Order: sequence, then structure tokens, then C-alpha cells
Amino acid sequence: MPEQAGAHSPFALATRAGHVDSVSWSFRIGRLFGIQVRLHLTFLPWIAFWAYSAWKEAGDPTAAVHAAAALLALFACVLLHEFGHILMARRFGIRTHDVTLLPIGGVARMESTGNTPRQELLIALAGPAVNVVIAAFTALLLWRFPAPAGGLDLDGLQGDLPTFLLAANIYLLLFNLLPAFPMDGGRVLRAVLSWRGDRARATRIAAFVGRVMAVLFAAAGLFQHAGNLLFFIAIFIWIGAGREAAAARVDTVVRAAMVTGFAVLDPFDTLADALRLASAGTQRDFPVVARGELLGLLRYEDLIPALRGSGPGTAVRDTMRAVSRSEVGIVSPNASLGSVARAIQTSTDGMTTILVVEDGRVVGMVTTESLGKFLAASDALGHPAGPVA
Ligand SMILES: [Zn+2]
Repeated sequence: MPEQAGAHSPFALATRAGHVDSVSWSFRIGRLFGIQVRLHLTFLPWIAFWAYSAWKEAGDPTAAVHAAAALLALFACVLLHEFGHILMARRFGIRTHDVTLLPIGGVARMESTGNTPRQELLIALAGPAVNVVIAAFTALLLWRFPAPAGGLDLDGLQGDLPTFLLAANIYLLLFNLLPAFPMDGGRVLRAVLSWRGDRARATRIAAFVGRVMAVLFAAAGLFQHAGNLLFFIAIFIWIGAGREAAAARVDTVVRAAMVTGFAVLDPFDTLADALRLASAGTQRDFPVVARGELLGLLRYEDLIPALRGSGPGTAVRDTMRAVSRSEVGIVSPNASLGSVARAIQTSTDGMTTILVVEDGRVVGMVTTESLGKFLAASDALGHPAGPVA
């Protein structure tokens, strides 16, 4: 079963609706280390199917319990693997929005997969390291307490589970260390290749290696009994390589591309003040700040109707989108620019400005225009451009 831990999806941004996009068809099952853990709906029929198959095969209902328990234990390992990545990323100030468990593995939506080769390497290795620890622990357990012979039902379950977990964790470890995107091994390879700079080139090479591996897997699938699984993995790797290569073109941190020269408003400024500011320059949306603290964002789209509706004397704070109600898109300077670009492009409420916040203060903005400038400059240069004005 392929584990999709490497496929850290883009970080979703808080939008006007007050909720944050999550992997669709999933629901929340709890929190771990302050991070929401979600379960994909397809998980339930999938577990039921496994349990039922085990029951039918063994002709014994306890086999179903056994199969379900083994599966849940396996996914606990997958989840811990993800948290290996997440907690390492947290050490570098990279936030994770949530983790979703799918039948194919776990997907952690992180702001970035690491902003330096060293960070990327450590974050990528932290997941597989968790599987090493679990495998070592279960091996120790099996060595100290060999599986009870002849035990029935629950004894059998207890005896079998460590063996199963040992095998599963070794499999998870090896599979994730394949040097191909979106597996962790692909990120390890890129981190090592980009150690001395040129991340775009490193990504191209890593993506190429991934594609070669995909071809090898597909070829092996032709001669193997379990060919279907190999074909599935080949397609998975091929798509991952392409996605990573495409992302590399804008692959940089928000800090490198944010607008740092911008005007802010006070919550008690009036809409007339805001209009004067908007008319004087090209800035459309204005952060609303009081004593250095970000309270909200006044959007041009809201300003004009509000001028007509409640009049020019209205306070900005009555018209702004509030941070406290999650109506403002916010990222840290270390977020990946690609994920911000996608958030703006796929926004359903016409969001054109995302605020860059560090230690509670606005340090920059990413707007549709600044993004356009940055992409044009990067295209001309052949690599991610430097800061935009
Ligand atoms: Zn992983």
C-alpha cells in the first residue's frame, strides 16, 4: 500500500467563509500536537471490506476484528510517520494545517517542505525515522516475548500484531525512501542535490530520476505476478515527478516575493481616508493595524459598496474583513510561494491579497499583481526572481 506521506499538499488559507479548505470528503476525528487529524470517507468502506474479506476467508468473525485492528494499527504508524515530518517542520517554523488519512496513506498539508536543503533533508528523513523506531521497538518486543504458540482469538491477535507491524514498518520505510517524488526519498535526493544552491536544477534531476524509476516499475509490472500494484506505483511516481517539476518554477518562499512597501490603515480611520489612500496609489487592499497588531484587511471590493451604503464617515473597522473571524488570508514568510499562488488562483471569494505575518505583525503582502510581476521576472531569468518592489 503506497503511503503518500511525501505528497505534502499546499497549505490552504483561511478564506472569507471562515473555514479552511481541507481534503474533500474527509471529516475530523481529533487533534494531535495541536493539529487536526482527518479521516477520508473512503476509509470506512475500505476497512469494512478488509474485515469482511478476512471473515469470509477464515470463516470466523474474530478474523474480521483481527483484520480491522491490524489495519488501524498500520494507520496509526502512518499517522506517526506524518507527525515525524510535521514536528520536525515545526522546529523550523513551518506550520501544518491538517493531516488526512486516506486508504493510500497520509497527507499532511504543510506550508512548505523545507526552505533550505538542510531543513528539507531533516523534514523528509523524520518520517521514515519514525518507522525505524517502531520497527525496532516491535522487533525488540518479538525478541523478548515470542508470539504465543497455539493461542486463540485475542492471544492470537496479540501474538500476530507485532509481527505484522514489524513487516509493515519495514515496508513503509523502504517504500518511502524510494528516490522519487512524491516519496520522502525524492525530497532527500533533491535536498542533497541542491546542497550547494540551484534548487531548480536539483528538482529537475530528482524529477528525472523519479520518471526513470516509474518506467522501471512499469516494466517490472509486466513480468510480475503482482503487476497491478507496480503499475499503480509507477503512475503515482510519474504524476508526482511532473507536479514537482512544475512547482519548481515558482519554488521559493513567500519572503522572496512579497511586497514590503505598503500603506496600512488604523481601525478608526474612515472610509474617506481609505478612499484617498487607494486613489493616491496602486494598492487596492489595506491591512488594518492597531499598535502593531494586525486586526483585518480592508478590501477595495468592500470599500466601494460600503461608501455607498454606510457613507464615507464609517470607521474602517466596521467594513474590514477581520483576522479574528478568519476572513483574511495569512501566511508566514516561510510558506512556499507556489501554495500561496494556488490559494489566490482558486479562491472562491475574489481574494487578491494575502498578508504575510511574522510574530503577529504584517511584514508584507502577496497580491495578484506582485505575483504576476514575480512570475514574469522568474520566466525571464530562468529561475525564481528576487524580491519584488
Ligand atoms: Zn513521509
